[in-house]
Amino acid sequence: MPYAPQKTIGILGSGQLGRMLVIAASQLGFRTHIFAPDATNSPAGDIAHDCTEAGYDDLEALAAFASKIDAVTSEFENVPASTMAFLAKHCLASPGEAALHTAQHRIREKTLARDLGIETPAFWHITNAADLQHAMAELGGDGVLKTCQLGYDGKGQIRLSQHDDLDAGFAALGTDDAILEEMVAFRAEASFLIARTTDGSIAHFPASLNEHKDGILARSIAPADLPAVVIDAGQNAIQKLATALDVTGLLALETFVTDDHRLLFNEIAPRPHNSFHWTIEGCANSQFTQLIRAVAGMPLGSTNCYGQWQMDNLLGEDMTRLDALASTSGLHLHLYGKAGAKPGRKMGHTNRQIKTADQTGLITPE
Ligand code: AMP
Repeated sequence: MPYAPQKTIGILGSGQLGRMLVIAASQLGFRTHIFAPDATNSPAGDIAHDCTEAGYDDLEALAAFASKIDAVTSEFENVPASTMAFLAKHCLASPGEAALHTAQHRIREKTLARDLGIETPAFWHITNAADLQHAMAELGGDGVLKTCQLGYDGKGQIRLSQHDDLDAGFAALGTDDAILEEMVAFRAEASFLIARTTDGSIAHFPASLNEHKDGILARSIAPADLPAVVIDAGQNAIQKLATALDVTGLLALETFVTDDHRLLFNEIAPRPHNSFHWTIEGCANSQFTQLIRAVAGMPLGSTNCYGQWQMDNLLGEDMTRLDALASTSGLHLHLYGKAGAKPGRKMGHTNRQIKTADQTGLITPE
């Protein structure tokens, strides 16, 4: 889709990532159309030009949607492969089939990383309680048992030590498609993000350093204060992954950094990532803008970053602090327009510059 105002970008999913994509698309003169089972009164559906409320397997609704859009992307990686394959017959579809298929399954993504020479924690595919017994014996230490599919924000995970009742642990996870990972004693968690166009041109973003609370991302600081060897390893890894998966749009990589400066692959997400919301004010082009540029057939923009930034997620329980946040100078407040402020629910985020460009110099990731 060559650049032209009034072209329509379709977005699968109706949450905050979709909403921030709608905003970025509008800034560039594009129209947006949200497709989701809960599109009405949703963060993205509320502000898009058009929306369709239908299931991802509703072929009639998908055909009507396809006839109205010029390109499509998804705000989440668990969109059914058949949905994207259907839409890809009509228009450019981001992030692409290989990226979705791989990112939907923890064994597939870690196997790809390992095949590309990217270090991962030790891992085992677990399909029954006996597999878990054998794998824990081989591991000889603490592990994390996770569902292979559909886990997010620390859900679908159980921490296991050698003395635990492993049969009960396996039963509690409630799936026969699981992964056991070595428990990594990491010093830090870092994420990397790359934007890529259909012709293979790329733009790296500066890396983020992430803090989680109760399995949910709480804070990101970027550009990450990490040794150059770690940053280089992450940039190399994400570039290899994006190329291998022929990504159109965005690819995020979550990693663990150890005391001895090793970088271990945790997972990938072929979409905008929470740990890069700081790019809205912190980079010349945000992650949302770069994704819109990539799917619209525009060249990618600069990801130059001025100073150092801190992003804090606002959960339901933080809504009581809204007045104070709204009157804090220098704080960029983003709210997603969600009605129910339940504890743990992502309601918005704040961005603020914690070091000026004078203190950091201009960061230009290659
Ligand atoms: P995930 O859903 O895989 O991103 O896991 C959520 C969070 O759990 C991560 O951000 C880590 O803080 C923690 N975690 C996940 N896997 C491991 C692991 N193998 N070792 C140590 N901590 C982990």
